Amino acid sequence: MSEDVLRVEGLSTRFFTGEGQVNAVEDVSFRVREGEVFGIVGESGSGKSVTGLSLVDLVESPGEVTSGKLWYRDAELAADLQQEFPAAVDGDYVDLRGVPEAVRTSLRGTSFSMIFQDPESSFNPSLTVGEQIAEAVEVQQRASSRPRSTRARTDSSEYSLGSLILSFALPSRRYISEESRERAVELLEMVGIPDPVERADEYPHEYSGGMLQRAMIAQALAGEPDVLVADEPTTALDVTIQAQVLDLLSDLQKETGMTVLIITHNLGVIARMCDRVGVMYAGEIVERGSLADVFRDNVHPYTAGLLGSVPDLESVGGSLDPVPGNVPSLLDHEMADRCYFADRCPKAMEACLERPHPRAVDDDGDHLVNCVLGEVSYGDSPPLPDEYFDDDGDGSSGAATDDGEGGKTAEESVSTDGGESR
Ligand code: SF4
Repeated sequence: MSEDVLRVEGLSTRFFTGEGQVNAVEDVSFRVREGEVFGIVGESGSGKSVTGLSLVDLVESPGEVTSGKLWYRDAELAADLQQEFPAAVDGDYVDLRGVPEAVRTSLRGTSFSMIFQDPESSFNPSLTVGEQIAEAVEVQQRASSRPRSTRARTDSSEYSLGSLILSFALPSRRYISEESRERAVELLEMVGIPDPVERADEYPHEYSGGMLQRAMIAQALAGEPDVLVADEPTTALDVTIQAQVLDLLSDLQKETGMTVLIITHNLGVIARMCDRVGVMYAGEIVERGSLADVFRDNVHPYTAGLLGSVPDLESVGGSLDPVPGNVPSLLDHEMADRCYFADRCPKAMEACLERPHPRAVDDDGDHLVNCVLGEVSYGDSPPLPDEYFDDDGDGSSGAATDDGEGGKTAEESVSTDGGESR
């Protein structure tokens, strides 16, 4: 079994909004092994994308990673930082939350890279695709030629206003170097863009959605990252192009041996791509394990509910069995100190009135579940009366209702064939 390349421990990310504190990611822990494909799946609003952004340090204000450790395995970096930041180094691992932001920034692109949900809004429309990939190549080359501790201090003159104006006056200046242009073309070829030399000089609007997603993968691979975070990489694509992009990602992962973390609401993508998976709900990872653990031997009722809402080709005409009710508010002052899934859970018991903690389901501790059912059986504790969840005093529980005021129902949010999600 390969070693962990990433250990996420107790990661919490909050957004400080006018309405109050939103606990988008709450005490999340998981490990990702070198060279594996790890999936994070859940409904819209479960905190998957924010988890991905937290890993690559791209959470923007009013959001903030408020606690947790991100242990990244890099022996060379650990040796570089050992003296100055001893508390952030443990053997070959560096806690990226315990080192200056400049170090984290320097790792972006070369150690971690990210593919975003919407390629059309991620490319600059005023620059050719080739230029934008070449820029990523240049950043990676500069990073590789400097001591890691000084990488973030880039020479801003290379991107000054003067050089930008000059680049428009003299087209040959638009590529920072001929080498980076050639590498951009190579990368476009690697991701299957036809006529890459000509296509490199085209603008994003001249690409189809599928080609643009491939170009974004090329850009993300420019720095030859150890860990690629792919946030809903096929959401904006039609089904045939989705399959092509997933095949491409899978081939590239096998070819390069990089570790891939896929974030998706699509269980089909998880089943097709991943070795291990974490199921997210209301900012927490509620179940984690191998594909077999989660798809076949799952314990958490939410995992079972997600799988139950997947259409089955063998029972055409039958109705789906969605998870009833709505995703809870993640506003701190509205979150109760009990299992967040209790309002929707068909197995809620009195034992669920305390916040569940992770319980190991198997002997090696790889299959973990945040649910009392990891320890007791349904029925060992009395069921919950409705008034436990009665906010308005009329005796009605929040379960299995959709009044259109509290977010999406599971069937609106989780699909097996694509659709918008964050
Ligand atoms: S802790 Fe209780 S309410 Fe929560 S998912 Fe498990 S059984 Fe359901």
